[in-house]
This record gives sequence, C-alpha cells and structure tokens, in this order.
Amino acid sequence: MSVNLLDFDAAKLAGFFSEIGEKPFRAKQLMRWVHHFGEDDFSKMSDLAKDLRGKLQERAVIRPPSLLRELDASDGTRKWLLSVGEGNAVETVFIPENDRGTLCISSQVGCALECSFCSTGRQGFNRNLAAAEIIGQLWWANRALGREPGGERIISNVVMMGMGEPLANFENVVTALNLMLDDHAYGLSRRRVTVSTAGVIPAMDRLGERCPVALAVSLHAPNDALRDILVPINRKYPLAELMAACRRYIEHAPRDFVTFEYVMLDGVNDTVLHAKELLRLVKDVPCKFNLIPFNPFPGSGYRRSADSAIESFRMVLMDAGLVVTTRRTRGDDIDAACGQLAGKVLDRTRRGAVA
Ligand code: SAH
Repeated sequence: MSVNLLDFDAAKLAGFFSEIGEKPFRAKQLMRWVHHFGEDDFSKMSDLAKDLRGKLQERAVIRPPSLLRELDASDGTRKWLLSVGEGNAVETVFIPENDRGTLCISSQVGCALECSFCSTGRQGFNRNLAAAEIIGQLWWANRALGREPGGERIISNVVMMGMGEPLANFENVVTALNLMLDDHAYGLSRRRVTVSTAGVIPAMDRLGERCPVALAVSLHAPNDALRDILVPINRKYPLAELMAACRRYIEHAPRDFVTFEYVMLDGVNDTVLHAKELLRLVKDVPCKFNLIPFNPFPGSGYRRSADSAIESFRMVLMDAGLVVTTRRTRGDDIDAACGQLAGKVLDRTRRGAVA
C-alpha cells in the first residue's frame, strides 16, 4: 500500500523522507510542488532528483478526494462536491469578498452533534475526514482558482465551518491546519484561519496549546435551557464552562477575542431579552459577534428572524460596546450557505431512519 503524502504535514513528511534515506530539505521542495503548484504527478517535479522521483512513485501517491461537481453561484460563490469514497461526499465553498477570499472547509462526513437547526446535523454521521481529505479541499480550490496575475493569493482565509465538528476530529484537523499555516504549503496567517466549534471544551484547550488559530464558537443561545435544545453538546459542556474555556483560549490565540456565532431563529432566540441575557453571559469574555440569519432547509421546523428583529438584537449588543456583524447570506442559489451543506452522507447512526 502506498502512503498518501497529502496526509503529511512538514514534520510527518520529514519523517517519511528520512525513512526512505532522503534529506529533509527535499521534503520542503516536494511540499511546494504539491501545495503551491497543485502537482500530483511525481514525474513532473523537475527539480527533484530522478532516483527520488522513482522512490516516491514506488511508495507514495498524492491523492486528493476526487472532484464530482463544481457549481458557481450568481454572486461569485463557488462550491465543490468532492467524493471521499463509498458513496460519501463533502462540500467546500469559496466566498469572494472585496478584501479577501474565504474558503469554507468540511472536517467530517456528516456530523454527530445533532444541532437542531443544522441540515448537516440532520443527515447523521459517517466518519472523520482524513487529513488528506481536509487539506485536499484547499488543494482543489487553490488549483481551480489559481493566483491573481500579480501573484496575489486568491484564498486569503480559511474557515473550518463546513460539514462536521472540527474539534471532534482533532488530530487530522491539526495536521491540515499545520499545512494551511506552513510557508511551504499554503502560508496562511494564523489570524486568517478560523476553527469553528460547537464547544468541545477539552479539545479547545488542546487546540490552544497545539495550534492556536482564530476561534469561533457557535453560541446560539444565552442560557443552558435553550442551548441544551439547539446545541445538544451543551448538556455535556454547559455555558459557564464554555465561557471559561473561551477565556483560556484567548491566552494562546492569535487574536485577542473569540467570535461568537449566533444563528437568528424567529421567535426562538432572537428577542431583545435574549440579547440582554447574552450580554450578561459574555461580560467577561473579549468577543465579537457574528449574527447568522437562519438558512432554511426542508423540514427544519425553524424560520429566519425578521430583518427588524435582527437589527434590534444587534443594537442591544452594539450599545453595550460589542462589535457585531451580520453574516450576509452567500451562495444560497447553489445551496452553499451556512447550514445548507449536505454533501452526501451515508448515515451510520441511522438517525435518518427516525426522521
Ligand atoms: N461544527 C462547527 C462548524 C459548523 S458550521 C460549529 O458548530 O461551529 C458553521 C456555522 O453555521 C455554525 O455556527 C452553525 O451553527 C451554523 N449553522 C448551521 N446550520 C445553520 C443554518 N441552517 N442557518 C444558519 N447557520 C447555520
């Protein structure tokens, strides 16, 4: 069996190179071929010695997930559907903005957390993605988008906000993050790589120690009673502990705040009273808020808050001095908006059978 070199960050690749009797700096050359130039054919890596190329061909492959479909939305958003085998597929979305280009990456096939308003959660869970399948999403997007004529990068930001809970797939996500940050691979700034979590507290602490990047936390409710329903992992890791974990994370974080994501659900969590309760909850946590108008999907049972409700909610937070952005819905004509990523999940938890 040949190894897939997309599974390796710099440290692992250096280990592999020493196993096959090669100098570690050769590993860096290889990384540039693979990640900068999107090359998956060893024979084309012209500045690698012939015998090295031969050795690699014998023992290794560069195998990203295979591309099933590419979709373009009217607003410039692009979505890739990538097969990860056995009928499973995941989705990756590129969102161009004036001053940046953000790639939204998936970390699992489906998700086990069952947040009640999320369509990925409704689909059930199959498995964790391998590091190669996570970084392979950036590999594809980078290859498809190329660079600006001036050499500027098109993908400046990555958010782990696609399908799955990244911190439930910790080791593979960290390997992929290492590659995102590595100058010989994608060279992204730590501040521009964001892990979004529903609040897996022990893994938040480990991330702070192992690979501090920007952190977003899916809050969605100002009290435990409501959050237990919307984000069921709250029953295991309740809000007081989550707030303490956020404060600990900030000590390591490349930014001096965490971003709280808050999905706006009509009549559920979107009143001025909820906003005031939220202020009390986060008073000791340096944070920004990102309000996400709910993106409906068939059978969700929820409605998007009215614009006026979102605005009043936002004003309460802003009047208390918080920075609040409202996420614009992007790419919804190709089902690429938050919570609409469905990919194709062969559910192994059989949750689909009950729904
Ligand atoms: N598991 C990670 C990443 C999930 S997706 C996490 O929970 O943070 C990124 C964001 O989209 C999360 O905040 C998630 O709660 C939100 N989201 C999920 N479904 C949504 C929907 N239907 N409409 C709007 N936002 C949604």
